[in-house]
Amino acid sequence: MANSYSLGSVFGIPVRVHVTLLIFLPLFALSFAPVAGLAGLFYGALGAVGLFGSVVLHEVGHSLVARAKGSRILEILLLPIGGMARLNQLPKRPADEIQTALAGPAVSIALGIAGWWFAPGVAVFNPILGYLLAELGRINFILAIFNLIPSFPMDGGRVFRAALVPRLGRLTATRIAATVGRGIAWVFGILAVLPLLHGGQIRFSLLLIAFFVHQAAGAEARAAEWEALEEVQRGQPSGLFDDLLRKWR
Ligand SMILES: [Zn+2]
Repeated sequence: MANSYSLGSVFGIPVRVHVTLLIFLPLFALSFAPVAGLAGLFYGALGAVGLFGSVVLHEVGHSLVARAKGSRILEILLLPIGGMARLNQLPKRPADEIQTALAGPAVSIALGIAGWWFAPGVAVFNPILGYLLAELGRINFILAIFNLIPSFPMDGGRVFRAALVPRLGRLTATRIAATVGRGIAWVFGILAVLPLLHGGQIRFSLLLIAFFVHQAAGAEARAAEWEALEEVQRGQPSGLFDDLLRKWR
């Protein structure tokens, strides 16, 4: 992707960081700083690196399973809103899609357990480092849970859609998943503005997430419609879009 820099590669997959993240990185470091002063900045930077390292490993989890299912991994891209594994194509068979989608949260849960497991031991030698590890463990658990929300663009949305495909076809399944996703976005949106009722403030980060989730639901539905039309035009049905073909016949 344009405006991104190489960080090296993991398992032969190029890892790149988008320039916008480099602008945000000092802010992440500041928000992570467990103590004041220069030491705080050092540990804050370490925490930020740990956070984005965790995100890379989450994407590596998706990538390795996708590669085993025949996809080619173009790159893992780090953005301020998270990571993204860019593939030449997503595995389309429902079972493959479910395994690929679950691999990321599985890695996050493993990292969360590792963080909590090692934190007390490390804290004996370096309390700040121990605290940081426990904090990274907690964040990895949150990452896993958040990603399992059954809505696009989260991994749970892909699992949900893929689970519906065998029975309903990919187009209908995507439309239902997108509708559920929009519903979840509305719940997030309402939760974001609810504090206003009792004199509180709007939760802007949640409102932003609600907006992104709503957009992603629509984008995924449109993408499925394009894929379905392409299959019809090529005349090589994969069987995934039987719902559409039934309607056309
Ligand atoms: Zn993921």
